[in-house]
Amino acid sequence: MTEKRTAVFIVMDGLGDRPVPELDGKTPLEAAKTPVMDRLAREGQTGLMDVIGPGITPGSDAAHLALFGYDPFTTYPGRGPLEAAGAGLETRPGDVAFRTNFASVDANMVVTDRRAGRTFSPDEQEALQKAIDGMEIGDVKVKFIATVEHRGAMILSGPGLYADISDVDPHEVGKKVLTCEPLKPEAKKTADVVNKMMKEVHERIRDLPLNKERKKAGRPLANAILIRGPGRHGETPTLGERYGIKSAVIAGGALYIGTAKFVGMKHVPVEGQTGTIDTSFHNIAMKTIECIKGDYDYVFVHIKATDNASHDHNTAQKVLAIERTDEMVGKIIEATSTEVVLAVTGDHSSPVSLGEHSCDPVPVLLWADFLRADESKHFSESEAARGALHTLRGRDILPILLGYAGHVEKFGA
Ligand SMILES: [Zn+2]
Repeated sequence: MTEKRTAVFIVMDGLGDRPVPELDGKTPLEAAKTPVMDRLAREGQTGLMDVIGPGITPGSDAAHLALFGYDPFTTYPGRGPLEAAGAGLETRPGDVAFRTNFASVDANMVVTDRRAGRTFSPDEQEALQKAIDGMEIGDVKVKFIATVEHRGAMILSGPGLYADISDVDPHEVGKKVLTCEPLKPEAKKTADVVNKMMKEVHERIRDLPLNKERKKAGRPLANAILIRGPGRHGETPTLGERYGIKSAVIAGGALYIGTAKFVGMKHVPVEGQTGTIDTSFHNIAMKTIECIKGDYDYVFVHIKATDNASHDHNTAQKVLAIERTDEMVGKIIEATSTEVVLAVTGDHSSPVSLGEHSCDPVPVLLWADFLRADESKHFSESEAARGALHTLRGRDILPILLGYAGHVEKFGA
């Protein structure tokens, strides 16, 4: 029997880039000093990856589904369920989930502030959440959680629900909340439930004490809710069901945690982990080592700082984030080299020149101490274009990792 190892998957968000003039035409990954990843590239294999598909610019959530080994075209549930899961409100197959805003409306349901002033105290959030969570509309149960500022997540749970419905948010102040319409005949019930929910939420929260206080203070009332990004949780098997593995996610952002939880991964919190360059790379390394030494078969580590730097057109900071990640990878490998199969990649390219996601394939690095080495000398976009992995699809990387780590059963006799 093959010895089982832990598959370790490190993603630098928005890693891939294009030549940058201020780096003498190198990409940030090529310019960064990355002795650890360069060594791993020499000892292992590299390649490029079209995370969703050739020419497709990936959104971070759909990209992560692909990196977790799922076909994003058939399993992507929309942003609602993924953000809800990230906020601690998990969906089950058949549920429809939304992202929400508290908003201000007048007596005719005309929107006067799409964010109800944006500022909410924890007490206000708790009172609003209590008023909405647990509501029932016929045989449909409403679950609700207030998250940050005016934001929240809502799940409708019950038989026969679909996400093919029109928007209720007029997206403009001075316009009336729209009536939800089914976009497919089978979604009629869902649209009816949404319309009843909108009315009942308004009636339940408009007279809460917090709105009397807001009125007295001249603040916008939090007397309605706007919902968006509906998504239905389909019949998606978890990673545990597909491979019989126990998997952990180490990430700072709710969307990544939510996407990982959606496929059954367990969130392992790390003290000091944030979505910025100030995140504790050391603590992330230590926690990753702990998970590898513990009983996890698959550990996913997400570093957000690279993408933030790209969005800010901040080349120096992207280089720095890559260098700090390199150091982090060094600590992990030093402690676990004979226990892991490791991949390092990005979820999409985010060229600093563009400041947004692009369709350029991302470089990927695969390493284990027993792997056949290819000709790669460094971990970079240009070297990866000649590597043994050639051009992969995003959804192929997880089975490769798990295969080498001994978690994929033989096919055939
Ligand atoms: Zn991303």
